[in-house]
Amino acid sequence: MTTPTDTQQASDTPQQASFRAAVRRFLAANSELKGATSPWRLTFHASADDARRDFERGCAWQKKRYDAGMTAFTYPKEYGGQDGEAWQERIYNEEARDYAGSSGFIGSSIQMLGPTLMAYGTEEQKRELLPRLHSGQDRWCQLFSEPGSGSDLASLGCRAVRDGDEFVVTGQKVWNSAAQWCDHGFLLVRTSPDKPKHQGITFLLIDMHAPGVEVRPLVQATGAAHFNEVFLEEVRVPVANVLGQIDGGWAVARTVLANEAAMIGGSGNKTFPVLRLLAERYGRTDDALIRQRLAEYFTREKVIDLMAERILTAVRRREKPPIDPSILKLYMTASRARSGELATAIAGADGVLMDDEVQRWVGAELVGRYSVSIGGGTTEVQKNNLAERALGLPREPGYDRDLPWSRIPRS
Ligand SMILES: Cc1cc2nc3c(=O)[nH]c(=O)nc-3n(C[C@H](O)[C@H](O)[C@H](O)COP(=O)(O)OP(=O)(O)OC[C@H]3O[C@@H](n4cnc5c(N)ncnc54)[C@H](O)[C@@H]3O)c2cc1C
Repeated sequence: MTTPTDTQQASDTPQQASFRAAVRRFLAANSELKGATSPWRLTFHASADDARRDFERGCAWQKKRYDAGMTAFTYPKEYGGQDGEAWQERIYNEEARDYAGSSGFIGSSIQMLGPTLMAYGTEEQKRELLPRLHSGQDRWCQLFSEPGSGSDLASLGCRAVRDGDEFVVTGQKVWNSAAQWCDHGFLLVRTSPDKPKHQGITFLLIDMHAPGVEVRPLVQATGAAHFNEVFLEEVRVPVANVLGQIDGGWAVARTVLANEAAMIGGSGNKTFPVLRLLAERYGRTDDALIRQRLAEYFTREKVIDLMAERILTAVRRREKPPIDPSILKLYMTASRARSGELATAIAGADGVLMDDEVQRWVGAELVGRYSVSIGGGTTEVQKNNLAERALGLPREPGYDRDLPWSRIPRS
């Protein structure tokens, strides 16, 4: 039988074929095939210890990739990269899909922060931070959202006051994924309250173990504690830790957010094989309606793959994506919701029983089906982005865009 990877392999150049063979050798020697683990494995953990172990496993896997030269393909050698081509990342991902080895959370930090450091880092920051980022030695979390500033991120109020060569930071962040395990955070702060909201923000790189940083995990409906509240009380951060310009942090944050939308949209997890297995298990593969929904789901995953490849190739080359990454995230988000609904349609009432691993998988798909439509910018916000950036429609009406941030009424 011809597999999708065989089809891709047939169009490889000799250089690509030899690279693919090296990737296969690396994966076979270092990871087990996904088939060897349960297809009903949940993507979140109800126990904090399991979650921590998985996070550490991801970091160890990233280190293995780094030591073998199997990551950071498009980054320059002096920044810990391979001086390679965007197709190497594609081939690696095609091959790695069948294997259990995954960098997990830090893989997403790398995709958000790596291109941002390349675009805005000083030479010193790039030389010091990129190799540590790619090797998994430094684990970074995103400290953007605040209790009153999520979709309207530019309204954020976490305050940084300059004191000589340092900023003194006081405020609160929320929904910060994996912050309880990370040693470093990329943080948005307000440095100039008297400027309009987008113009007085600075992007800081902080040490999560600095005095004054307190991380409190939040427990979710699924029982997992994936994200946190982070309190900052007079935390001293060197001015040298600014990424980009002081008061110019909004542009840096936009780069992170665009990479995040592309990364979430193109994350490549395939649910179709599990949905098909579920239909077989419940004897629903001859049910015309279920077949139709499975076929639609399969098609959507293919479309996502094709869009992701176009967008992520540009991101890897540090070029402007040919289509707005928002559309990829929107499409992927709608698919995730369909997966939860289809799984429940197949399993019926079993999906709420949670007695065995299959039922737990169905339940988790259902309960978790909207989380991806919130993280990394909600569906509504992505639609606004598309309307303004891709379709050229008028901006959403707003009264506070040009007001000094300090004069904007807030509760
Ligand atoms: C799984 C997950 C992981 C996350 N990880 C992180 C992280 O690591 N770091 C971090 O900083 N944050 C993180 N977040 C937070 C996330 O970025 C915010 O939840 C998100 O930006 C929405 O903000 P909010 O929760 O304050 O909702 P709100 O902004 O209050 O939105 C509430 C509702 O109003 C709608 N809405 C708001 N404004 C508009 C508008 N202008 N037009 C139309 N509708 C609108 C929204 O779409 C939403 O439905 C994560 C969230 C999730 C779910």
